[in-house]
Amino acid sequence: MSSFSHFDVVVIGAGHAGIEAALASARLGAKTALLTMNCDTVGQMSCNPAIGGVAKGQIVREIDALGGEMGKCIDATGIQFRMLNSGKGPAMWSPRAQADKKAYQFLMKLRVEEQENLTLAQEAVEELLVEGDPVAVDITEPAPEQRPRIVGVKVRGGAVYHANAVIVTTGTFLQAIMHTGEAKTVGGRAGEGTTGTISDCFRRLGFELQRFKTGTPARLNGRTIDFSSLQIQPGDDDPSPFSYLTDRITQTQLPCWLTQTNAGVHDVIRANLHRAPMYSGQIKSTGPRYCPSIEDKVVRFADKDSHQIFLEPEGRHTLEYYCNGISTSLPRDVQERMIHSIQGLENAQIMRYGYAVEYDFAPPTQLQNTLETKRVAGLYFAGQINGTTGYEEAGGQGLIAGINAALKVRGDAPFVIDRSQAYLGVLIDDLVTKGVDEPYRMFTSRAEYRLLLRQDNADRRLTPLGEQIGLASPERFAQLRHYETEIERAVTLLKKTRHQGQTLEDWLRRPEIEWPELCALSPEVAALDISPRAQQQVRIETKYSGYVKRQQMDIDRQARTQSLKIPGTFNFQAVPQLRSEAREKFARVRPADLGQAGRISGITPADLAILSLYLKEPA
Ligand code: FAD
Repeated sequence: MSSFSHFDVVVIGAGHAGIEAALASARLGAKTALLTMNCDTVGQMSCNPAIGGVAKGQIVREIDALGGEMGKCIDATGIQFRMLNSGKGPAMWSPRAQADKKAYQFLMKLRVEEQENLTLAQEAVEELLVEGDPVAVDITEPAPEQRPRIVGVKVRGGAVYHANAVIVTTGTFLQAIMHTGEAKTVGGRAGEGTTGTISDCFRRLGFELQRFKTGTPARLNGRTIDFSSLQIQPGDDDPSPFSYLTDRITQTQLPCWLTQTNAGVHDVIRANLHRAPMYSGQIKSTGPRYCPSIEDKVVRFADKDSHQIFLEPEGRHTLEYYCNGISTSLPRDVQERMIHSIQGLENAQIMRYGYAVEYDFAPPTQLQNTLETKRVAGLYFAGQINGTTGYEEAGGQGLIAGINAALKVRGDAPFVIDRSQAYLGVLIDDLVTKGVDEPYRMFTSRAEYRLLLRQDNADRRLTPLGEQIGLASPERFAQLRHYETEIERAVTLLKKTRHQGQTLEDWLRRPEIEWPELCALSPEVAALDISPRAQQQVRIETKYSGYVKRQQMDIDRQARTQSLKIPGTFNFQAVPQLRSEAREKFARVRPADLGQAGRISGITPADLAILSLYLKEPA
């Protein structure tokens, strides 16, 4: 066995989680290696060539606010930008952009290559090297002083990378099988292989694995699409960037196109359901309920006679189109008949057929809220391996795991974001507390404080935290300080200036009064030299101040009762009054405080009341 040099942190897999993990770790000063099966697929979008969307766009803004890369990369390589839900309240505004898929990948690869302290290498990791016996660790017991710890990884060919911390971000590649009709192929993504041995290694180390499935639609050659019969969907006239460091989106935008399924398409699908792996019993694992395949939609929504399809360009230098809305694993001949029955696609050539993929994931209740595993010290999991789906959810977890691995290596306190601070806090708390019974994607409805967790204020919420740990750059922090000053100047002026007996702040609360009307009322406001973004922030904070204040009071009240800490050594078995189900669940999750304990599914207020008595007087 040949030996390689020593790294502080090794990240396995250069997908969306791995990139953010590796960049964060290296930027925090840890000597980091990013090992991936193929350097040509760094940052590849396995499915939809798009970043953001409802609740996901908010996550990208949060990644950016903390000092991550996803927002900057999509700003530079996006081909169409839209602010979704702009007709609703600001908590629902969600940025989304079509990506030039290849340009996005190339730029991410370059960012990784340029990063100091970071080594990108093409390696297939086959084994995790652990000192101690993790199988003997009972993760429902208090963490022992000396836990087994990760010491490195072994790659195909036998070379070893020694490391103090390892972050696993292997996506859909664990024991992966792809299905198109009756045909089954081994691999985590079309054209690629799988990583079986690492799943075996997880099991040997005592980790539980389960299986999920996800699917993707066909891609078409645009030369063979009849666009003249389709409805065009342009991008926004004034596109909003994702990154707080991007001033403006200046590149030209490409249109998407709209078509829909029809009764004929549904007949073809119904007649062939017995050949669909989900219905024939060939696929047994659970898929994303909120992102169903077209065969699922036809069965579940039998009364609907059409479903929308967005034809989305995959880039500026390709004619390939992604058919958003008709993910499928039906056989190839059925996919052809289905596509050819759709308006505008009568003669379309399928360049890549749709397929479903089944893969192993590790139930995330095996993790702490830093994304470090309970079983092995220094070993972190992030991304699809935790049962999530989506680039944004993966990127966010990668960032948090990367930060925590680097902090641990340098002996600093962990970095944990609360549910009231960010969607990232909601995401991680949901995963480690509740676990997953289907691929987890983010929704605004998962965040109880969503009025505060808006895409417009992610920098105000998180950049100071990013700066504290040393990830948000001085440039980013200086920009935030300038912006905060602008807001403060405006708010002070609106509070102290009166018009017809009312403060300008009161005037701005009126639905019919916007910034231009305010300028007309007051020459001082008209003369105020602040950016349009600061104007918008003052407008939102003023108009929604009632709701925002109420939500802040909720948070403060919850914080008082729920912040009661549960020591890592707390012995739940020594609380005889607890129901055995509650005792078992607390021991499995090992909540860090009373708030987290209360969010475990099946835990009752009575369980919490009993537990809180023991927390005041340690058991
Ligand atoms: P990935 O992006 O999958 O990256 C994993 C990386 O790990 C790859 O670079 C791989 O080469 C590397 N790797 C794996 N094993 C090893 C090893 N042993 N050694 C070294 N490197 C390794 N998301 C949605 O939101 N909606 C969808 O509809 C959707 N559909 C999908 C359909 C398909 C067919 C697939 C494959 C994915 C789909 N996704 C969808 C999921 C989305 O692609 C993932 O959520 C996201 O890419 C996860 O990011 P990740 O970083 O965890 O993993």
